[in-house]
Amino acid sequence: MSAQNTIERLSNEITEVGNLTHTLALRYEGIFTLIRYGLSEALSDATCLAQAARDATAIADAAASALLYSFPNQAKLDCKSGCNACCHLYVKVPPGVATVMARHIQLTFSLSERDWLHDRLIEAVEAIDTTEHPERLRHPCPLLAEDGQCSVYEVRPLVCRAFTSASAYRCQQMVFGTGTGAIDQNLGYYRVYAEATRALEQAAIRLGQPSRQKALAHALLEELTGD
Ligand code: SF4
Repeated sequence: MSAQNTIERLSNEITEVGNLTHTLALRYEGIFTLIRYGLSEALSDATCLAQAARDATAIADAAASALLYSFPNQAKLDCKSGCNACCHLYVKVPPGVATVMARHIQLTFSLSERDWLHDRLIEAVEAIDTTEHPERLRHPCPLLAEDGQCSVYEVRPLVCRAFTSASAYRCQQMVFGTGTGAIDQNLGYYRVYAEATRALEQAAIRLGQPSRQKALAHALLEELTGD
């Protein structure tokens, strides 16, 4: 085979694979458009924000799980039970999420557990209200149990579901040490939950209710005590 033939063959193959890659990249973006429309359609029937939050969470969980298990060559997640560095970051929730969490707590926590949680929520609210930059706080989440596990794992907020890391060591450094930069997260996974968050904000607007996100501690205290 002449050099010219080799060049043509290689060029054709590279062009074809390039075109396929471009098409796949467009289809990958299309997944998030589909998630956005799917969420919007599913939540359009919701008559209350708690139902909207349950539906948005179920849809996002299913989409995130499919994304995580369907694509090759993804960074291995280092998240594991008992590693809770991210549970010391400032958490915000969109409308409806704290209502679902409060109902779960009312049904499953004992009276003494609810008293314990109430004290921790007050502490967290004070910490948030006395700083100019709550997003820089490193405070244990009021729902972090003494054994280091999330006490409401089944109904944890969207952002807690969204957060993943390829290095638990790096999370520890970033949250408790002097680490700077960013955590290596699964971005597709994060985008799914960001879409669910936006869908809940839009559902609140449609239902004529406040749409802005609130600090988890404030939102949960309001739901549990009406304060
Ligand atoms: S709600 Fe649960 S998962 Fe989220 S920050 Fe609190 S303890 Fe961690």
